[in-house]
Amino acid sequence: MSKTPSETPSFRDLNIAEPLLKALDEIGYETPSPIQAQAVPPLLQGKDLLGHAPTGTGKTAAFALPLLSRLDMKNKSVQIMTLTPTRELAIQVAEAFQRYASHIKGFHVLPIYGGQEYSGQIRQLRRGVQVVVGTPGRVMDHMRKGTLKLDGLKALVLDEADEMLRMGFIDEVSWILEQTPADRQMALFSATMPKEVERIARRHLNKPQEISIKAKTA
Ligand code: AMP
Repeated sequence: MSKTPSETPSFRDLNIAEPLLKALDEIGYETPSPIQAQAVPPLLQGKDLLGHAPTGTGKTAAFALPLLSRLDMKNKSVQIMTLTPTRELAIQVAEAFQRYASHIKGFHVLPIYGGQEYSGQIRQLRRGVQVVVGTPGRVMDHMRKGTLKLDGLKALVLDEADEMLRMGFIDEVSWILEQTPADRQMALFSATMPKEVERIARRHLNKPQEISIKAKTA
Protein backbone atom coordinates (compact mmCIF):
# COMPACT_ATOMS: atom_id res chain seq x y z
CA MET A 1 0.00 0.00 0.00
CA SER A 2 2.83 2.35 0.77
CA LYS A 3 4.59 1.60 -2.51
CA THR A 4 4.31 4.09 -5.32
CA PRO A 5 3.64 2.77 -8.85
CA SER A 6 7.37 3.05 -9.69
CA GLU A 7 8.13 0.74 -6.74
CA THR A 8 10.11 3.40 -4.92
CA PRO A 9 9.99 2.32 -1.29
CA SER A 10 8.65 4.75 1.31
CA PHE A 11 10.69 5.69 4.37
CA ARG A 12 8.41 3.37 6.33
CA ASP A 13 9.14 0.51 3.93
CA LEU A 14 12.81 1.13 4.62
CA ASN A 15 12.17 0.47 8.34
CA ILE A 16 13.26 3.87 9.58
CA ALA A 17 12.43 4.22 13.30
CA GLU A 18 9.09 5.78 14.21
CA PRO A 19 10.31 9.07 15.78
CA LEU A 20 12.38 9.72 12.68
CA LEU A 21 9.41 9.07 10.39
CA LYS A 22 7.50 11.67 12.34
CA ALA A 23 10.30 14.21 11.88
CA LEU A 24 10.58 13.45 8.15
CA ASP A 25 6.89 14.03 7.81
CA GLU A 26 7.25 17.46 9.44
CA ILE A 27 10.33 18.35 7.41
CA GLY A 28 8.42 17.40 4.26
CA TYR A 29 10.54 14.64 2.74
CA GLU A 30 8.01 12.50 0.89
CA THR A 31 10.06 9.75 -0.70
CA PRO A 32 13.60 8.53 -0.22
CA SER A 33 16.11 9.76 -2.79
CA PRO A 34 17.93 7.02 -4.78
CA ILE A 35 20.95 7.07 -2.48
CA GLN A 36 18.68 6.77 0.56
CA ALA A 37 16.81 3.83 -0.95
CA GLN A 38 20.15 2.09 -1.59
CA ALA A 39 22.08 3.01 1.54
CA VAL A 40 19.45 2.61 4.25
CA PRO A 41 18.93 -1.19 4.10
CA PRO A 42 22.61 -2.22 4.41
CA LEU A 43 23.31 0.42 7.06
CA LEU A 44 20.26 -0.68 9.07
CA GLN A 45 21.63 -4.24 8.93
CA GLY A 46 24.88 -3.02 10.41
CA LYS A 47 26.89 -3.49 7.21
CA ASP A 48 29.77 -1.32 6.05
CA LEU A 49 29.16 0.88 3.05
CA LEU A 50 31.22 2.44 0.28
CA GLY A 51 29.23 5.17 -1.42
CA HIS A 52 30.32 6.92 -4.58
CA ALA A 53 28.17 10.00 -4.23
CA PRO A 54 28.43 13.75 -4.71
CA THR A 55 26.70 16.28 -2.45
CA GLY A 56 23.13 17.25 -3.12
CA THR A 57 22.00 13.65 -3.47
CA GLY A 58 20.54 13.39 0.01
CA LYS A 59 23.52 11.50 1.36
CA THR A 60 23.33 13.03 4.84
CA ALA A 61 19.92 11.48 5.47
CA ALA A 62 21.13 8.30 3.74
CA PHE A 63 23.50 7.64 6.63
CA ALA A 64 21.87 9.64 9.45
CA LEU A 65 18.45 7.94 9.27
CA PRO A 66 19.56 4.30 9.50
CA LEU A 67 22.26 5.02 12.08
CA LEU A 68 19.85 7.05 14.23
CA SER A 69 17.33 4.22 13.91
CA ARG A 70 19.84 1.96 15.67
CA LEU A 71 20.67 4.41 18.46
CA ASP A 72 20.43 3.07 22.01
CA MET A 73 19.16 5.94 24.17
CA LYS A 74 20.01 4.06 27.38
CA ASN A 75 23.66 4.16 26.38
CA LYS A 76 25.34 7.42 27.38
CA SER A 77 28.48 7.13 25.25
CA VAL A 78 29.18 8.57 21.80
CA GLN A 79 27.66 6.02 19.44
CA ILE A 80 27.94 7.70 16.05
CA MET A 81 30.73 9.87 14.70
CA THR A 82 30.93 11.58 11.33
CA LEU A 83 34.13 13.15 10.03
CA THR A 84 33.80 16.00 7.56
CA PRO A 85 36.43 18.05 5.71
CA THR A 86 35.21 21.49 6.82
CA ARG A 87 33.60 23.16 9.79
CA GLU A 88 30.73 24.36 7.57
CA LEU A 89 29.92 20.79 6.60
CA ALA A 90 30.28 19.65 10.22
CA ILE A 91 27.72 22.23 11.31
CA GLN A 92 25.39 21.38 8.43
CA VAL A 93 25.55 17.63 9.10
CA ALA A 94 25.07 18.16 12.85
CA GLU A 95 22.00 20.28 12.16
CA ALA A 96 20.62 17.57 9.90
CA PHE A 97 21.08 14.94 12.66
CA GLN A 98 19.32 17.31 15.08
CA ARG A 99 16.37 17.82 12.73
CA TYR A 100 15.93 14.12 11.99
CA ALA A 101 16.20 13.29 15.72
CA SER A 102 13.91 16.09 16.91
CA HIS A 103 11.45 13.53 18.34
CA ILE A 104 14.05 11.42 20.12
CA LYS A 105 13.95 12.56 23.75
CA GLY A 106 17.31 13.30 25.32
CA PHE A 107 19.11 13.29 21.98
CA HIS A 108 22.30 15.36 21.72
CA VAL A 109 24.58 15.94 18.75
CA LEU A 110 27.74 18.04 18.93
CA PRO A 111 29.71 19.56 16.06
CA ILE A 112 33.41 19.87 16.95
CA TYR A 113 35.85 21.81 14.82
CA GLY A 114 38.95 23.95 15.10
CA GLY A 115 38.92 27.67 15.71
CA GLN A 116 36.39 27.26 18.49
CA GLU A 117 37.10 27.24 22.23
CA TYR A 118 37.77 23.81 23.70
CA SER A 119 35.91 24.61 26.92
CA GLY A 120 32.41 24.68 25.43
CA GLN A 121 33.03 21.49 23.46
CA ILE A 122 34.45 19.75 26.54
CA ARG A 123 31.48 20.80 28.68
CA GLN A 124 29.03 19.35 26.17
CA LEU A 125 31.05 16.18 25.70
CA ARG A 126 31.00 15.68 29.48
CA ARG A 127 27.27 16.18 29.64
CA GLY A 128 26.93 13.37 27.10
CA VAL A 129 26.21 13.32 23.37
CA GLN A 130 25.18 10.36 21.24
CA VAL A 131 26.50 11.83 18.01
CA VAL A 132 29.65 13.80 17.21
CA VAL A 133 30.27 15.45 13.86
CA GLY A 134 33.72 16.90 13.50
CA THR A 135 36.72 17.86 11.45
CA PRO A 136 39.67 15.43 11.72
CA GLY A 137 42.18 17.75 13.43
CA ARG A 138 39.96 18.78 16.30
CA VAL A 139 38.51 15.30 16.74
CA MET A 140 42.04 13.93 17.05
CA ASP A 141 42.94 16.64 19.60
CA HIS A 142 39.97 15.70 21.78
CA MET A 143 40.77 12.00 21.53
CA ARG A 144 44.38 12.69 22.58
CA LYS A 145 43.27 14.84 25.53
CA GLY A 146 40.87 12.11 26.59
CA THR A 147 37.91 14.48 26.33
CA LEU A 148 36.38 12.47 23.48
CA LYS A 149 36.08 8.78 24.32
CA LEU A 150 35.06 6.42 21.58
CA ASP A 151 35.10 3.04 23.36
CA GLY A 152 31.35 2.78 22.81
CA LEU A 153 31.38 3.94 19.19
CA LYS A 154 29.02 1.88 17.03
CA ALA A 155 29.27 3.67 13.70
CA LEU A 156 31.74 5.92 11.95
CA VAL A 157 31.05 7.88 8.75
CA LEU A 158 33.64 9.52 6.53
CA ASP A 159 31.80 12.20 4.61
CA GLU A 160 33.41 13.66 1.48
CA ALA A 161 36.46 11.47 2.01
CA ASP A 162 38.17 12.72 -1.15
CA GLU A 163 37.87 16.33 0.06
CA MET A 164 39.18 15.35 3.46
CA LEU A 165 42.28 13.79 1.94
CA ARG A 166 42.71 16.59 -0.60
CA MET A 167 42.84 19.01 2.32
CA GLY A 168 45.70 17.05 3.84
CA PHE A 169 43.86 15.21 6.61
CA ILE A 170 45.16 11.74 5.66
CA ASP A 171 47.30 11.27 8.79
CA GLU A 172 44.57 12.46 11.16
CA VAL A 173 41.92 10.32 9.48
CA SER A 174 44.14 7.22 9.53
CA TRP A 175 45.06 7.78 13.17
CA ILE A 176 41.41 8.22 14.19
CA LEU A 177 40.39 5.09 12.28
CA GLU A 178 43.09 3.08 14.07
CA GLN A 179 41.82 4.20 17.49
CA THR A 180 38.14 3.35 17.02
CA PRO A 181 36.76 -0.04 18.09
CA ALA A 182 37.53 -2.72 15.50
CA ASP A 183 33.93 -3.92 15.43
CA ARG A 184 32.36 -0.55 14.71
CA GLN A 185 30.31 -0.14 11.57
CA MET A 186 31.74 2.21 8.95
CA ALA A 187 30.46 4.10 5.93
CA LEU A 188 32.65 6.03 3.52
CA PHE A 189 31.21 8.53 1.06
CA SER A 190 33.25 10.15 -1.67
CA ALA A 191 32.45 11.90 -4.95
CA THR A 192 35.64 10.57 -6.51
CA MET A 193 37.80 7.56 -5.66
CA PRO A 194 41.44 8.59 -5.79
CA LYS A 195 44.03 5.99 -4.72
CA GLU A 196 44.29 7.27 -1.16
CA VAL A 197 40.55 6.95 -0.63
CA GLU A 198 40.61 3.45 -2.11
CA ARG A 199 43.42 2.52 0.21
CA ILE A 200 41.49 3.72 3.27
CA ALA A 201 38.40 1.87 2.04
CA ARG A 202 40.28 -1.37 1.48
CA ARG A 203 42.00 -1.18 4.81
CA HIS A 204 39.16 -0.07 7.07
CA LEU A 205 35.87 -1.21 5.54
CA ASN A 206 34.70 -4.73 6.27
CA LYS A 207 33.13 -6.37 3.19
CA PRO A 208 31.39 -3.11 2.25
CA GLN A 209 28.26 -2.89 0.19
CA GLU A 210 29.08 -0.58 -2.71
CA ILE A 211 26.62 1.93 -4.08
CA SER A 212 27.03 4.52 -6.77
CA ILE A 213 24.88 7.59 -7.34
CA LYS A 214 25.44 10.18 -10.02
CA ALA A 215 22.25 12.14 -10.47
CA LYS A 216 21.26 14.83 -8.02
CA THR A 217 17.86 14.80 -6.35
CA ALA A 218 15.20 16.78 -8.14
P1 AMP B 1 22.60 16.35 1.03
O1 AMP B 1 23.08 15.66 -0.21
O2 AMP B 1 22.55 15.43 2.20
O3 AMP B 1 23.38 17.60 1.33
O4 AMP B 1 21.08 16.80 0.80
C1 AMP B 1 20.73 17.72 -0.21
C2 AMP B 1 19.40 18.39 0.07
O5 AMP B 1 18.32 17.50 -0.19
C3 AMP B 1 19.22 18.87 1.50
O6 AMP B 1 18.69 20.16 1.47
C4 AMP B 1 18.20 17.90 2.09
O7 AMP B 1 17.42 18.52 3.08
C5 AMP B 1 17.39 17.51 0.89
N1 AMP B 1 16.82 16.13 0.96
C6 AMP B 1 17.47 15.02 1.37
N2 AMP B 1 16.69 13.93 1.27
C7 AMP B 1 15.50 14.35 0.78
C8 AMP B 1 14.27 13.69 0.45
N3 AMP B 1 14.13 12.38 0.59
N4 AMP B 1 13.25 14.44 -0.03
C9 AMP B 1 13.41 15.77 -0.19
N5 AMP B 1 14.54 16.46 0.10
C10 AMP B 1 15.57 15.78 0.56
